[in-house]
Amino acid sequence: MKGTAIIIGGGWAGSAAALAAKQGGADRVVILERTDMLLGCGLAGGIMRNNGRQTATEELTAMGAGGLFSITDSVATHKNVNFPGHAHAWLYSTTKIEPAVRNFLEMCGIEIRFRSRVVEFLASGSTICGVTLHDLTESRLEGDVFVDATGSAGSLSNCTRYGNGCAMCVLRCPMFGPRISLTACAGLTDYVGMRLNGEVGSLSGSFELRKNSLSVDIQKALNTRGLAIAPLPKSLINREKLRSKSCQQYALQEYAANVILLDTGDTAKVMTPFLPLEDMRCIAGFENAMIATGSGYANSVRFLSRAPRDNSLKVDTFCNLFCAGEKSGFFVGHTEAIATGSLAGHNAVRTLQGKHAITLPKILACGDIIHAEQEGISSELGLVKRYTFSGGEYFDRMKVKGLYTTRMSEIANRVREADCYRIFANRI
Ligand SMILES: Cc1cc2nc3c(=O)[nH]c(=O)nc-3n(C[C@H](O)[C@H](O)[C@H](O)COP(=O)(O)OP(=O)(O)OC[C@H]3O[C@@H](n4cnc5c(N)ncnc54)[C@H](O)[C@@H]3O)c2cc1C
Repeated sequence: MKGTAIIIGGGWAGSAAALAAKQGGADRVVILERTDMLLGCGLAGGIMRNNGRQTATEELTAMGAGGLFSITDSVATHKNVNFPGHAHAWLYSTTKIEPAVRNFLEMCGIEIRFRSRVVEFLASGSTICGVTLHDLTESRLEGDVFVDATGSAGSLSNCTRYGNGCAMCVLRCPMFGPRISLTACAGLTDYVGMRLNGEVGSLSGSFELRKNSLSVDIQKALNTRGLAIAPLPKSLINREKLRSKSCQQYALQEYAANVILLDTGDTAKVMTPFLPLEDMRCIAGFENAMIATGSGYANSVRFLSRAPRDNSLKVDTFCNLFCAGEKSGFFVGHTEAIATGSLAGHNAVRTLQGKHAITLPKILACGDIIHAEQEGISSELGLVKRYTFSGGEYFDRMKVKGLYTTRMSEIANRVREADCYRIFANRI
């Protein structure tokens, strides 16, 4: 099918959008990524398939969008790990994941341009016709359909203004330039996430330690079980900090009272929010702990620019612009980014074909979460709520609606019933 799909941002959402666009039959699919690596916040993540994410993963696989999950599974450090509030998690290696995804997307024929920060949309009326890049050549790139998957984290000035400063996180704004809201630059009014205390955005609390800087016992627990839990001394327990974290699925007392570590390969992912290194080093086994990414004072500030959109993920005003991942909603997670990315990429190609964009039905968790977030945004606490299959209010909703299941045959049947079987796999 003639036409170019331009995907802006190469996080999990952009990678999934590109894959869906290619599978849908787009002739040319280009990812424009401002840094030198794919996966954005996913470079510091790794937790898959926990709680309702298992259901969503199998739904997406039945819908034909399982390619990226095959890769996360193939570089898993541990499978079916249970940790407080979370069951059957798979953890991917944050060292191995990026090259594996990059090779896969390139093999699928997707063009990836790094160090290509988009600074503006070029529009003619309600049609986007290209983008301007702040790259080495200040070039322009024309396209037919577009997906904004630029995430919601950073820039450095936002992390300083609304957070505890720049943690030199995986997004590396000083080197590659700030994330800006392209939709706001195009004249739209974004939704800005808030915290319960009235502050702007949410703090990412997670950071990573070098595994070999921890005691032999902790390393052994991580290597064998994927998990290590060390109780915090009473003086270091601060339950208040749970309220400011983005990931409400970890806002459980266990995370305030313990240091909970997960094994993501060469690093140990710290699930306990905001624990300064000097405090952490007072705990047995952590005396020589070294930080690998992020910081004990917070990571990036997120949820600063959610685009106005409908449930097909088409951005308001423009007829050929879709959005995905954190840009498309107050969604937390790689799986959530892959779900919205797959729909946005698919609908971009449908638009290219002159067909109407589809929504995913509410009988699927992947459809329901998109509707729930859209309904929630205008509710009283709409700007404070976050949505993830893995916990908090949305996982409760999944359970109440009977959407949560780990039975693969039931999930596949539901996808068939919804008329969505292999929908993302076939050429449109
Ligand atoms: C520290 C941390 C740990 C986490 N751990 C987990 C976890 O274990 N499991 C889980 O499921 N979720 C985790 N999350 C949440 C999850 O990573 C995110 O919700 C999800 O990955 C967001 O994906 P995204 O593609 O929407 O955005 P991002 O990951 O932010 O990707 C956006 C991409 O767009 C690029 N970009 C931005 N602006 C431009 C521009 N103008 N031009 C070109 N490119 C641009 C960025 O460089 C980036 O690569 C974690 C988040 C953080 C911050």
